[in-house]
Amino acid sequence: MKKAKYIIRKINVGLAESCKKARDINVLSRIVLWVAAIMLVVALGVLFFYKPARDAVFAPSEIKTVIEVKSGDTLSKIFSGQGFSVRDIDTIAKSLKKDADFTTLHAGSDKIEFIKPAEDKPISKIVILNGPWQRVEISCDEAGDWQCQKVVIERDTRIAYKEGEILDGDSFYLAGMRGGIPAGILADVYDLLAFEMDFERDVRAGQHFFVLYEENYASDKKVDNGRVIAVAFEALRGNVQMYRFVRSDGGVGYYDENGNGAIKSLKRTPINNAKVTSSFSTRRKHPVLGFTRAHKGVDFRAPTGTPIPAAGAGRVVARSFNRGHGNFVKIRHNGTYETLYAHMSRFAKGVNVGTVVRQGQTIGYVGSTGLSTGPHLHYEIIKNGQHVNPLTVKLPAINNLDAANKKVFLEHKDKLNGIIESLKTNPEQIVRL
Ligand SMILES: [Zn+2]
Repeated sequence: MKKAKYIIRKINVGLAESCKKARDINVLSRIVLWVAAIMLVVALGVLFFYKPARDAVFAPSEIKTVIEVKSGDTLSKIFSGQGFSVRDIDTIAKSLKKDADFTTLHAGSDKIEFIKPAEDKPISKIVILNGPWQRVEISCDEAGDWQCQKVVIERDTRIAYKEGEILDGDSFYLAGMRGGIPAGILADVYDLLAFEMDFERDVRAGQHFFVLYEENYASDKKVDNGRVIAVAFEALRGNVQMYRFVRSDGGVGYYDENGNGAIKSLKRTPINNAKVTSSFSTRRKHPVLGFTRAHKGVDFRAPTGTPIPAAGAGRVVARSFNRGHGNFVKIRHNGTYETLYAHMSRFAKGVNVGTVVRQGQTIGYVGSTGLSTGPHLHYEIIKNGQHVNPLTVKLPAINNLDAANKKVFLEHKDKLNGIIESLKTNPEQIVRL
């Protein structure tokens, strides 16, 4: 029974195979016919349409020489090095100024490309690459005149979200770097938070923070980072949250979640990342004098030579030396506030009594002059003639929003919060404002 079944199967297979062969031959002849037909069409097409593209085949690719601008280089030095006549250089320099608003080359960053259509042809195009978002194109027209044109490269600004957590023994800076926040953005965040936070006393392990910032792309490639859009920090004395907002007058500011100005008239900690080594107190033992007396400011440890920025805009009312303070500067900010900076190694150039300074402008450098045990900044805030604690005094905002702007701000804030939530769950998505 088993054997019979086997034979039948074999016959069946044999039949199926011979059928298949016949079918195969049929298919094969069809394929041959089709291929022949296609070849005929292609051949006819080639006969009808082919014209030898001699130019495309024999044109050599353009020759490009790239010069990196070095210190001491001038336009005429670089151009004469490329064989340009004094007259041509003069024409180009004039056109650069008039048509492209270009006057200065920057050593170390600018590049100039000289392009020839062929090795034996003269230079017909020059491109000055002066920054990631612009370039100047100089080309020779048919009459032999040089034309300059400023080209602005379009920025594709996308929004990035990064978060971090303070670990045991961490600084905000270390935690931020670990969270992948770029150094420049981290410095900006620090500057913003320094208005509201005391990094010495408000930072503890377990705290979280995040930053929303711009990333600028050109042709789908990241070029640089833009501005901080929003930042939040779970500080010990309450959450600090700030949102960037463009007011109806075009002015820009950072505001808290209720629309109050987050940029204060004065900074609590003028120097970023500086450790508080001595707090404000009405009584303390003086480290040099030995007896107990009030410490009317806050000491920030920083290396000698660290720039000291003005805590707020104002006018310099003292730039002097005394036994206690050493070299010091005092700034009057308004009718209410003054700040004082002591133990400077030296003053900043151009800072004299009467000089008007802006917030963040360097007024001097950290040192250890006067009664001091080591390089540090001694910083005082004087409110209506009375010394107050810089780290706790309630400081006024530079600009608060009017009712109309506040309404727009609150909508903007909701939108940003939506973006934050969305990027939190999917950081890879492309988000634009
Ligand atoms: Zn001090």
